Amino acid sequence: MSKKPSRVFIALGSNLENPVSQIQQAFDELEQLPGICLINHSSLYKSAPVGRLDQPDFINAVAWIETTLAPHDLLNALLGIEHRHGRVRESLNAPRTLDLDILMYDDLEWLDEKLTLPHPRMSQRAFVLKPLMEIAPDCHVPGYGHVAQLLSLCYEQKLEQL
Ligand code: AMP
Repeated sequence: MSKKPSRVFIALGSNLENPVSQIQQAFDELEQLPGICLINHSSLYKSAPVGRLDQPDFINAVAWIETTLAPHDLLNALLGIEHRHGRVRESLNAPRTLDLDILMYDDLEWLDEKLTLPHPRMSQRAFVLKPLMEIAPDCHVPGYGHVAQLLSLCYEQKLEQL
């Protein structure tokens, strides 16, 4: 029997080598992965870097997919896309050609050495919450709260919608 598709949100970020086209290309690649259907994606947003400030601004977006892939298989597929975009893991908060994070996988709460769901830092990041709110305004983040409520707590983080 085939698995019922799961509703998943993915955060996309890039600040190297033409970030806008990195993100647009990643939407296309997500759509082409077996077992994934791209339902919608947000507009693109520009945000200032967090943690390490001596790097270019980021372009961010969120994609809504339905998938029959299990969480870890999905993560591996996303790491494959990052790899094809020439992603180099230098250090935490370093500049990157493409970052793909699983924000939520249905209402699953999960923690192991490879995967944490919901994504542990999503509840404090306007560059994730704003695009998420654009495509899923009723979204509830398991263990954290409603997306609008979480976004209201990030009011001081500046974000430009492109
Ligand atoms: P980074 O690309 O620097 O955000 O880190 C990616 C690594 O974080 C991956 O190799 C995953 O094993 C781990 N990770 C843990 N939880 C998540 C998640 N929800 N989405 C994506 N990567 C995750």
